[in-house]
Amino acid sequence: MAFVGHNVSRTKWLNRALVLECLRREGPMRRVEISRMTRLTQATITNLTAELLVEGLVRQEKGRGRGALLDINEDARTILGVHVRSERVELALVNMTGGVHEDSGFLIDPKAGPEAMISNLIVEARRMLSKSRVPSLGVGVGSAGHVRAESGEIARFPYAGWERVPLGASLRESLELPVVVDHNVRGMAAAENLVGEDRDASDLMFLYVGRGVGSGVILDGNLFRGSTGAAAEIGHTNVTESGPLCWCGNRGCLEMYTSEPAVLGRAEELLGPLDDGDPLGDLLGREDGRSRGLLRDAGEQLGLAVANAVDLFNVRRVVVGGRLLSSDLVLNAVESTANHRSFLLPGETVRIRRTSFGSSVGVVGGAALVLDRLLFHPRLGSEAQGRPAAARDLQPG
Ligand SMILES: [Zn+2]
Repeated sequence: MAFVGHNVSRTKWLNRALVLECLRREGPMRRVEISRMTRLTQATITNLTAELLVEGLVRQEKGRGRGALLDINEDARTILGVHVRSERVELALVNMTGGVHEDSGFLIDPKAGPEAMISNLIVEARRMLSKSRVPSLGVGVGSAGHVRAESGEIARFPYAGWERVPLGASLRESLELPVVVDHNVRGMAAAENLVGEDRDASDLMFLYVGRGVGSGVILDGNLFRGSTGAAAEIGHTNVTESGPLCWCGNRGCLEMYTSEPAVLGRAEELLGPLDDGDPLGDLLGREDGRSRGLLRDAGEQLGLAVANAVDLFNVRRVVVGGRLLSSDLVLNAVESTANHRSFLLPGETVRIRRTSFGSSVGVVGGAALVLDRLLFHPRLGSEAQGRPAAARDLQPG
């Protein structure tokens, strides 16, 4: 932790974020209620909310003067949310409450190298941002692979065989906007916590199953990154001593048994070839005992991993995403195993539900990284990503 104190301008910047956070969780509210909740003086709240109203980030609802209700003006800014998946990049313009206004995407060509992916992304980002009628807060990228959030680098992108991709720096230089890059599932956890159904949750875990298996954890209302930014890599926790070799270099990782390719591989061994066009859809639609047993096994293995995470982090809410978990059979197996195998007191349960954002969870997650770092929960590290334009005059000196 850096030894950096809070001078007047930094204090003002943090208090401003506190007011926005208060409105995000509890709004609409009157100024006097914000003052009571934040324990800031009424004069301070009057000044801060006056600035936020001028910037347009906050709107005044019913009533006048001191009795007026204030709330987040969700369409005052847009965020470009980006999801770098294993084979595809998705982009969307997202508002301040997670609403998706416009989306697009392109395929990743592993042979063309990371430079081509970055330049395609810049072209598409410019095209999307030019469509927005309101200013942009920044660009948030959630990426698969091993991501270093502080530098914005994708340290390893195994799906294309790339290493050390300087995504954050390239985007920041070309787009001249604040850019936040982090692990995709961490963004999804942020989305559920900031603008999803669990916006009041101080502790939450997101589990995503796609080509990989990942999780993101919110502890005490904050995204948990760990010492090297690789916290909650649930897909690479050890489930057996040996087993197939994983891209991370280890053997016996959870991902090698419960990712979509792993489940499909086992299904083809047991059941024979699946539909070429959509093998997962084919498997999920089958009603025979062997197919259902295989899916239930995958759910139970994921449920054990969730139980371990629940015990480690003491979370009671788990949100899931990805197509495999769209199956009720798989989700029920996860839920019942997690509840049977967790360290719970009598009457306690682990609540598991699907994401509020459906298949848009990756892009909303990217946008949520910007909302988290630059708007609602700024902290000293946030300066590295740049500030939203509207807050530029509040930059600490
Ligand atoms: Zn691994």
